[in-house]
Amino acid sequence: MDTRTGKGLSFAKRIYLPRVLGKGVGLFAVMAAVQPLSPPAWVWAFMLFNGLLWPHLAYLWAARSKTPYQAEQRNFFLDSLMGGFWAGAMQFNPLPTVTVLSMITMNNVAAGGKALAIRAGMAQVAGMLTACVLLGAEFQPDATAFQVYACLPMLTLYPAALGWVCYRLAIKLAEHKRRLNTLSLTDSLTGLLNHGAWKDLMARRFHGCRKQRSEAVVALIDIDHFKTINDTFGHVVGDQVLRQVSIELRGALREGDKAGRYGGDEFCVILPSTTEAQACQAMERLRERVAAYRDPQTPHLRISLSIGLCPFDPSLETPDGWLRQADTALYVAKRNGRDRVMATHRADTSVTPSAEPPAFISLAR
Ligand code: GH3
Ligand code: MG
Repeated sequence: MDTRTGKGLSFAKRIYLPRVLGKGVGLFAVMAAVQPLSPPAWVWAFMLFNGLLWPHLAYLWAARSKTPYQAEQRNFFLDSLMGGFWAGAMQFNPLPTVTVLSMITMNNVAAGGKALAIRAGMAQVAGMLTACVLLGAEFQPDATAFQVYACLPMLTLYPAALGWVCYRLAIKLAEHKRRLNTLSLTDSLTGLLNHGAWKDLMARRFHGCRKQRSEAVVALIDIDHFKTINDTFGHVVGDQVLRQVSIELRGALREGDKAGRYGGDEFCVILPSTTEAQACQAMERLRERVAAYRDPQTPHLRISLSIGLCPFDPSLETPDGWLRQADTALYVAKRNGRDRVMATHRADTSVTPSAEPPAFISLAR
């Protein structure tokens, strides 16, 4: 699934600079270890190629490939093969050998986990055997002071560079996670909270109201004859109406009020620290703003809202019960002619909507 523009290419880009740096500083360690062994000229040529040219070639190879990710896996394999070769060419001088091979392994684990590390480990062994066949199998146990110093750039700079790359990646991942989390809570058409996110919030507010004995009001808002709007003006205009209502809704609310799209043409709001009268006023303002909306593209379009609201009351047993009461108020608003705000009459709290309809008050218009 990796494409040239997808994950594969960004992976190749991410690997490029660490490889340039790793090969560049690794060249010091290898040169210092190989130089006293007087290798043939082709070994020097190969060493310069591997240290200076290979990182650029590897990047171009991967970037121009149709599958950059797979191409990079092959490049890692070749890195390890060449690393193993240098171990043999250095006659397994312990310090430079461990330095080069452990840095390559660290890179492989960071890039491809256990699977790549195992495959690349086998490539290292193959590289060592190749060097033994071409240059002879010898062991050089002693490292000179110069060889020790020549390993220091790789031991210090390369882990820092790789750590930096991993850190940047972690930051990017955290950002993606944050965005995904926001998306999972948002209704894509209106940008309001989606059904699930709003219901979670409402449940939290419900329990908050019970604990702190505070006031809050839930309102359910439904667009009148929305099916007719869709049928008359088309679904694109229907979508625009939903967006417009969400804009007016945002404009009518205070900072702490939370609006969501309950589903279809229905919206929901929770207004904390609000009395029934204040909520009725806010919702009436919203109803008027939406009714006054005119779209020059569709001059005959009129939008009206039916709104049912229910203030919190300690007699409510569950968040769903609270919502049911607001829904019943909305139903009464529809039944009484639409284009109006209805509130459950909290003076009569013993009434449950399912058994016997509660009393409602309509806001005078
Ligand atoms: P009422 O006054 O009784 O509410 O009548 P209504 O026509 O509005 O009926 P209802 O609320 O049941 O209609 C909802 C319609 O909303 C049905 C569905 O086709 C439409 N709808 C649901 N989601 C979308 C959407 O995302 N975009 C558009 N354009 N239409 C939608
Ligand atoms: Mg409707």
